[in-house]
Amino acid sequence: MQAPVQKNQTLEVTFEDLTHDGNAVAKVEGYPLFVAGALPGETGRIQVTKVNKGYGFGRLIELFEKSQHRIDVPASEAHKYGGTQLQHISYEGQLQFKEKQVREALTRIGKLEDVKVHPVLGMKEPWYYRNKAQVPVGEKDGKLIAGFFKPRSHEIVDTDESIIQLPAVNEAIQTVKEICSELGIKAYDETAHKGTLRHIMARYGKTTGELMVVLITRTADFPHKNQIVEELISRLPNVKSIVHNINTKRTNVIMGETTKVLWGNEVIYDYIGDVKFAISARSFYQVNPVQTKVLYDKALQYAGLTGSETVIDAYCGIGTISLFLAQKARHVFGVEIVPEAIEDAKRNAELNEIDNAEFAVGKAEDIITEWYNQGNKADVLVVDPPRKGCDEALLQTIIDMKPKKVVYVSCNPATLARDLRILEDGGYKTVEVQPVDMFPQTTHCEAVAWLEF
Ligand code: SAH
Repeated sequence: MQAPVQKNQTLEVTFEDLTHDGNAVAKVEGYPLFVAGALPGETGRIQVTKVNKGYGFGRLIELFEKSQHRIDVPASEAHKYGGTQLQHISYEGQLQFKEKQVREALTRIGKLEDVKVHPVLGMKEPWYYRNKAQVPVGEKDGKLIAGFFKPRSHEIVDTDESIIQLPAVNEAIQTVKEICSELGIKAYDETAHKGTLRHIMARYGKTTGELMVVLITRTADFPHKNQIVEELISRLPNVKSIVHNINTKRTNVIMGETTKVLWGNEVIYDYIGDVKFAISARSFYQVNPVQTKVLYDKALQYAGLTGSETVIDAYCGIGTISLFLAQKARHVFGVEIVPEAIEDAKRNAELNEIDNAEFAVGKAEDIITEWYNQGNKADVLVVDPPRKGCDEALLQTIIDMKPKKVVYVSCNPATLARDLRILEDGGYKTVEVQPVDMFPQTTHCEAVAWLEF
């Protein structure tokens, strides 16, 4: 359609909806304009910033009528760009937004009209929850800066504090930045592919108080290494592991292939419920420890184990869900693509004296298909794939193998809905879906689905 608006034009609009990435939608003669920072039900003045064929973008200039869900937030750049796209919405409003998002994905993409979707399980304190931060490093006025990229750019906004990271994580990032600045470490310059420090990563075991710091550099060696380590130990009393990762490539991928322990342990420890986990620098570990327990309890409830079942945990990471399940099952078989994570998973089974869980490295779609072709079967299958969802080959194997129950843990409602449709067409019935808010203040949305054959 011909756009009824022009670039730079200012308009008075009513906002009707919120997209999955947190932008408000205002329609002009049916033509949608996406505007950050506004909420459904609000009216205001916008300036058109971009005009595409079927839709455009605008910038909020002034609000006339405010939504009951709007809350005041600090206007600093760090707050604006810190990945907290929903921070101007009351927490109740955020939970409603996420529930709607799951419902709409299931009906629109999954064509699942009558699936029961429960209200989102939220947090009591929906701030300062993340146990991990991984921030790019840059330079400004001769000093190191670290924080977030501005949207659609590689410009770094220096950030002292993120409202969604645990204080220990905020402090660790700040301290590394200070120490490296004092010692004259150069930030990596991605345009020239020069300089040293690319990213700083910090991970904190909330239940154990153990801290890991990872320095990700372009070069195999870097100046003042020992002094940096000494300063970190003295200024961060909780640090148990200081790790160096080398990434020599021109790439947006954060970590490189080589990881060396500079000081302390190779892992830090944390508990989820009463299961203890060793976590190494390269392994995936859920970022919200409080809600992880809520999510896993739900997955365990949906698995409905009695002690006699063979269970597969696909995309198992360091075996977190697997070890939860193993306490209630006959045998658990975990599959994961990252070799370090599988090493951690095996170590975690030993650590908790769990001897009915085994782990294999490889693609879930390959390993589980091979396992099935050798005549093996599972009673319950759990999947927890990354945002892109399950590989189609894995879904086909599930349909062939027909485990009685499938528990699908998802961090992306769109791919969840797509995959549930495939499983439904293969004979499964989705019993219910429980969204869990793992990422308050952000648009990210986690849900667990229970299917029966
Ligand atoms: N269940 C775990 C991890 C979930 S995150 C937990 O709750 O902690 C998704 C995991 O899938 C990551 O560890 C990632 O490395 C892994 N992964 C990605 N693609 C995969 C594939 N094709 N096969 C197996 N694992 C994969």
